[in-house]
Amino acid sequence: MEGLEAVLINDTTIEWRIKIDNKLGTDYNKTLLQDASAILSQNGMTVNIIEDAEAKFTIELAKPVAKFTADGMISITNGYNIPDGNIYDGQVTSKDSPRTLAHELRHKASLPHIFAETSKVENTKENQKN
Ligand SMILES: [Zn+2]
Repeated sequence: MEGLEAVLINDTTIEWRIKIDNKLGTDYNKTLLQDASAILSQNGMTVNIIEDAEAKFTIELAKPVAKFTADGMISITNGYNIPDGNIYDGQVTSKDSPRTLAHELRHKASLPHIFAETSKVENTKENQKN
């Protein structure tokens, strides 16, 4: 029975081990990882983001980048990732906001924007900016 209980615990908990590469030039938000974990933990599933200097996955903390688009608008990029579904190694770039970090990590795990055609979640008033 103990073995069965351990399996059930593992079925609802995801551990994401990460290394932090701080390029902000300042200290980052001290509760960043716990706050991003809380955002990602939903519907009975717990996501724990744990800092580990030996991890193969890196979160690069960087300042937002502002660029002019072709039509003269300013576009601000708060994060970047390669959405390949590989959460064991690779990299996510994010500013030190838990919301942005959680957003980029979800993309890394292959989740599209809720308004994207490939999204399987209905676009409602509450989630339209996700
Ligand atoms: Zn996005």
